[in-house]
Amino acid sequence: MAVREWLRPPRHLLVLFVGLTLVLAAALGWLGWRLLQQDRALETQRLRDHLETAATAVAAALERRLAETERTLGRLASLPARELRAQGAAWARDLSDGAVLLVRSGEGLEAFPARRLAYYPVLPPSRSPPAETFADGEALEFRFQDFAGAANAYRVHTRSRDGLVRAGALLRLGRALRKAGREEPALDAYAQLAGFDSLPLDGVPAGLLGRHARISILEALGRVAESRQTADSLYRDLLSARWPLSRGAFEFYVTDLLPRLAAATRDAPSAKAALARGVALLWADWSAGNAPSGGGRRLLRDEEISAVVLWADGREERVALLATADHLRAVWLRELEPLLQREGVRIALDDLEGNPVISQLGDDATPRVVRTAAETHLPWTLRLASADPGNLTAEFAVRRRLMLAGFGVAVLLALVAAYAVARAVTRELGVARLQSEFVAAVSHEFRTPLTSMRQLTELLASGRVPTEERRGQYYEVLRREGERLHRLVEGLLDFGRMEAGAHEFRLQSLDVAALVRETVDDFRAEVSERGWVVDLEATQDAGAVRADREALSRALWNLLDNAVKYSPEHRTVWVKVGGADGRVAISVRDQGAGIPASERDAIFEKFVRGSSAGVAGVKGTGIGLAMVQHIVRAHGGEIRVESQPGAGSTFTILLAVER
Ligand code: ADP
Repeated sequence: MAVREWLRPPRHLLVLFVGLTLVLAAALGWLGWRLLQQDRALETQRLRDHLETAATAVAAALERRLAETERTLGRLASLPARELRAQGAAWARDLSDGAVLLVRSGEGLEAFPARRLAYYPVLPPSRSPPAETFADGEALEFRFQDFAGAANAYRVHTRSRDGLVRAGALLRLGRALRKAGREEPALDAYAQLAGFDSLPLDGVPAGLLGRHARISILEALGRVAESRQTADSLYRDLLSARWPLSRGAFEFYVTDLLPRLAAATRDAPSAKAALARGVALLWADWSAGNAPSGGGRRLLRDEEISAVVLWADGREERVALLATADHLRAVWLRELEPLLQREGVRIALDDLEGNPVISQLGDDATPRVVRTAAETHLPWTLRLASADPGNLTAEFAVRRRLMLAGFGVAVLLALVAAYAVARAVTRELGVARLQSEFVAAVSHEFRTPLTSMRQLTELLASGRVPTEERRGQYYEVLRREGERLHRLVEGLLDFGRMEAGAHEFRLQSLDVAALVRETVDDFRAEVSERGWVVDLEATQDAGAVRADREALSRALWNLLDNAVKYSPEHRTVWVKVGGADGRVAISVRDQGAGIPASERDAIFEKFVRGSSAGVAGVKGTGIGLAMVQHIVRAHGGEIRVESQPGAGSTFTILLAVER
């Protein structure tokens, strides 16, 4: 029924409502979508702004760091030579393993702190023993292949007072003894040579020469463990910059030692070799005239390392700081860390070709800000990204969820409001329809008695009624019709008053059974003529209730009237009064048309007439049951209906027993 009701005449209104609601919902949806878009754009913009600010701060901090170092270098460069080296060495002590302080004077290069470089691009010239000292021995050794004689000749010089000569003699003695097949004494000679340690022989330290020579002899003697141990310790000394070496010497010995080493030794990284490589790069750069005098900063790079160099020129010397990526990470970046954390960002520093020197950035596609070296005057390109973009996105997601929920509620409200309005409109229209049907029904109800009254009156007035008895009958009909009209009008007026809440119920203590009996008697008198039987079953002591006599009687009358109206076939109506559970039940049963379950609530509403009324063409106004309900409720009671379509209905009034 609901669907049919909905699709009745106000259909166009409904369509309008649905249309409007959909338009409203669509507008809200569109608005929401636009807002979300704007919000997202705003978020991206905010993130970018934040990164821009952070980039400026980070660049400034790096610049301050470099500028401060440059000032120190400038101050050192302006000092007299001795002071410069003393203060330089002191300052360099605090540098990390990835940095070295360089002092160039003329063609010489010094590095601070000492032993920081595995090798040097240039070395101070070293002294060699005079060539003629060993001429005799070398003649025997090389020309006559007399190795024993040569050894003897060299041995003489091992007692020289000049250390350099002694070392030179031991080197040659070891060689000659080996050639003579006397490995043990050769080992001994080389051990003595190694004792001179850093004394350079033709630029190569005696320690290195002696220990290196021993390795191959030990190998030849099959003393594998000893030879490997010697190789390992020599390699470690090379990498820890025990001696100042040329790059050529360093690379020669390293290449020679590598296949002889234990794996762990071979794979250990060496900061000093990396630094030496950087210094070599720097030296080549300077030699190519790439560094303007006065001072400057530059990023140097080859396939293996990248290093930043800052330099300042004094009158005689050039003072420079060379720092590899290790230093950058360990010192400068660490100093930046609080700032980075505060700003919630990560950075990467790239060289000018865009290769990362150091990078804290992952591969994710968060917005990034780039500051080129040209913009910042730093030796790197600075890239910056949010450390935890999820943080900001989370905030955004929460807001988006709230916004979606808001829009959802708004759309829902619009739908509910539209539904409510549509519902109210249909209902009002329904009521209006019922009302007009009511007016038609009431007119109809009036017309029938009025017509017959008019005809009878005319007949009586014309004096054409022959017998007194017939006249008496006509008067009786007139009285009955008058009564009916009176009841009809009274009923309508009462109902109007009850609806308006103006009807006053005069409650008094009543014997229910008696009241029911009286009403049933009256009703019987009305209908028995038409062949109706009203069967009353009343318990004498049904009890007393507080009630308005007239109203309760009217309620019962209405039920009886309906029972008769809607049961044209079975002309018996059963009335029963009895008490149960502290209540009195007055029930009226018929065997008429019955009421479909779907109508059982609606029939109690005013003006509503059920399907049985239509089918049987029964006259009525649709206010009978509404009135019964009013009256029963006013008495604090209850009205119930049980019915089986086709088999009859039972209406029961339940009232509380008076105590
Ligand atoms: P009316 O009788 O004037 O139509 P009522 O308010 O008395 O108005 O009744 C409302 C509707 O309830 C009736 O139109 C009818 O369809 C149904 N109805 C009431 N009493 C009975 C009954 N005893 N048997 C079948 N239908 C009934």
